[in-house]
Amino acid sequence: MGSSLITLHGKDFQPYLSASQLAEAVENLAARINADYAGRQPLFVVVLTGGFMFASDLLKYITLPCEVVFIRVSSYEGTESSGMVKEVLGLREEVQGRDLIVVEDIVDTGTTMHHLVPKLQSQGPASVVIATLFFKPESLRHELTLNYVAKEIPNDFVVGYGLDYDGLGRNLPDVYVAV
Ligand code: 5GP
Repeated sequence: MGSSLITLHGKDFQPYLSASQLAEAVENLAARINADYAGRQPLFVVVLTGGFMFASDLLKYITLPCEVVFIRVSSYEGTESSGMVKEVLGLREEVQGRDLIVVEDIVDTGTTMHHLVPKLQSQGPASVVIATLFFKPESLRHELTLNYVAKEIPNDFVVGYGLDYDGLGRNLPDVYVAV
């Protein structure tokens, strides 16, 4: 991992988690899913855009037969959660009777998942669970069951590994935190 600061839109970020630390956390989480879903064929519901890199790595470690769909639910601007949730890409009927695993980049206030989970449940799946790369327990404002958390982090703004700062930083293999 680079040891130096990066600057995005004039804001400084310092190294926080290396690609290898992330890979270890993601592999551990995949192993738990593999064990818990043995004999089942889950449908991974990846929340775009932030979840793309996490999902891509997570799915490489999933040894179960599984399917993947992509949805887009929320709008998030700058470093503060807007609380707005809007579904742009919807799900198809294939959800009915399926075991859904929602793949999210980060649960902050929990607003996004608080709105998304009931929407998914209304379509008649067999089950819905959340797999998130990051969880900020100090920020949570909703009652939420988080079945799979790769890493709990403090209430700081992070970028990299799919997560952006106003569009920039998603391509970074490491995760950085705002200084
Ligand atoms: P929530 O609805 O739980 O408050 O926020 C979820 C969304 O906010 C995430 O999917 C993500 O897009 C964004 N978000 C929350 N915290 C951070 C952060 O530290 N960094 C980045 N880049 N996005 C965040």
